[in-house]
Amino acid sequence: MPRKSLLTRRLFSTISFSRILALGAFGRTFGVLGSESHLSASETEPAATPSRQSTKPVVKSKKRSDEIDYLRVTEAEWKKRLSPAQFDVARKHGTERAFSGKYHNDKKDGAYRCVCCKTLVFDSQHKFDSGTGWPSFWQPFDQEVIGESADDTLGYPRTEVHCKRCNAHLGHVFNDAPKTPTGLRYCINSVCLVFVSRKEVDEIAAEQ
Ligand SMILES: [Zn+2]
Repeated sequence: MPRKSLLTRRLFSTISFSRILALGAFGRTFGVLGSESHLSASETEPAATPSRQSTKPVVKSKKRSDEIDYLRVTEAEWKKRLSPAQFDVARKHGTERAFSGKYHNDKKDGAYRCVCCKTLVFDSQHKFDSGTGWPSFWQPFDQEVIGESADDTLGYPRTEVHCKRCNAHLGHVFNDAPKTPTGLRYCINSVCLVFVSRKEVDEIAAEQ
């Protein structure tokens, strides 16, 4: 499947945790989402071609010498580190069944890390109830941590979103949320996320 990068977006963020990348503790939370096993071959969201404005200044993340190069982790290694459901969605571009994930209706204050590399990828402050059965956000935690690629696997164009640090598939982004500040709906699979409380987010930020 051909994949290529799309527009680089810089959205305004109410909090600027630009340098937050979750490091270490790789195995600490693996397996916590392992109970989610209902996957479907395709998503049911409507097609859309996002368009958005860039307002947020980009601050490059710090590169640490002890940081794992997650882009070099092999598929076999991911299979060992992740549950079958996590592997199917995050590493094989699967989609969890709507309303089957643990976060679609979650309203706790905090943030969500990538299940593969622990990077903070979404914040509860940007979460909204889309009614789709998947966790929905109007912007990423930080624009720099999310990458995009064209996805026409269902026969119509969609924009896939993934974690830049480890290339984990997270979901898709659509521009069908006019009531949100950005008009965007990041439709994300719960199984690709690990929630952390606001206190933990602050602690992570302090470590960076
Ligand atoms: Zn990741």
